[in-house]
Amino acid sequence: MSVFSHPEFADHEEVAFCCDPDVGLKAIIAIHNTNRGPALGGCRMWPYSSDEEAVTDVLRLARGMTYKSALANLDLGGGKAVIIGNPRTQKSPALMQAMGRFVDSLGGRYITAEDSGTGVDDMKIIAGETKHVTGVVDKETVTGDRRSGDPSPATAYGVYMGIRAAVNYRLGRHDLKGLRVAVQGVGNVGYHLSKYLREAGAELWVADIFDEHVQRATSDFDAVQVGTDEIYGLDVDVFAPCAMGAIINDRTLEQLQATIVAGAANNQLAANRHGAALMERGILYAPDYVINAGGVIDVSYERVGVDRDKMLRHVEEIYGTLMEVFRRSGQERLPTSVIADHLAEERFRK
Ligand code: NAD
Repeated sequence: MSVFSHPEFADHEEVAFCCDPDVGLKAIIAIHNTNRGPALGGCRMWPYSSDEEAVTDVLRLARGMTYKSALANLDLGGGKAVIIGNPRTQKSPALMQAMGRFVDSLGGRYITAEDSGTGVDDMKIIAGETKHVTGVVDKETVTGDRRSGDPSPATAYGVYMGIRAAVNYRLGRHDLKGLRVAVQGVGNVGYHLSKYLREAGAELWVADIFDEHVQRATSDFDAVQVGTDEIYGLDVDVFAPCAMGAIINDRTLEQLQATIVAGAANNQLAANRHGAALMERGILYAPDYVINAGGVIDVSYERVGVDRDKMLRHVEEIYGTLMEVFRRSGQERLPTSVIADHLAEERFRK
């Protein structure tokens, strides 16, 4: 398997492989770009079916972090780590310690954080081996709760600001009263997002594969439960994907009735061409890595000093950044996803 000729290779600065058979660690760290600062990105643990699949994921995710941090105006580059293994059955403190030493070996060029399959407890173990880790500081969240590390409330707040920007741009409205929003996935981010939207007067429709998550949203926010396939075709103003990626694809595009797609999920477009397809259908798309940057903004403040108010103002900048993306998209007649890439590249390329 070649890395340099890999389809997802995008001039990554460094790709490091680590094996520690004593503890069963097989991991990869990809550093995409450090022009703006050290590469910050989560550490994912996933039972990849092949090494190739893990390399594909880590290259793609690391690159995405460069774009996300650049557009969030952070002095950070983009990187990501993956551990090959099942987080439910193969994770151990010794494995996480070994991962911490691997992170440390890069001397601070890569800073890790939680991601799918890893959590705050894992980051605390990693913190015993390296200082290059975030998402471990016990701090007040955007909602005022004290919660260690978890960036999802900040992500939800950023998505809420992004929806407000999209509603302003597309519908010419400054308030969300009676706005109809379909939230796909009411987990960590989707739940907090629903709370913000409901408090602002929006009407909610929710779908989730976990019944207990749906019940929580229906009882707390008067949301209407809909089926996981039904959510795409609802006659709503906003479709907010907060579950999994590749959710805008040939099949779902045909069904979408919403005029705005704005949600937290990473990699929402199944392919680049779906950004153009949304534009052709008159649907305003808030590019995922712009609207969901609240979490990385939140954890980045652990490095420079936790300041909740400053962090909140920073997350609120997502509103203005998206407005710029929307305006340029209109002027240049290019999809918002393409404009966001151009804006990010202007900021991180030397
Ligand atoms: P989560 O696992 O807490 O929530 C996801 C929810 O989606 C779960 O309730 C799950 O049951 C549901 N779901 C899964 N498949 C579904 C389907 N087919 N239909 C409907 N619901 C389905 O995850 P999260 O932390 O809330 O993150 C949500 C999305 O946002 C992910 O794509 C994540 O990568 C992205 N994201 C999260 C953060 C963060 O701070 N947590 C930051 C940036 C991006």
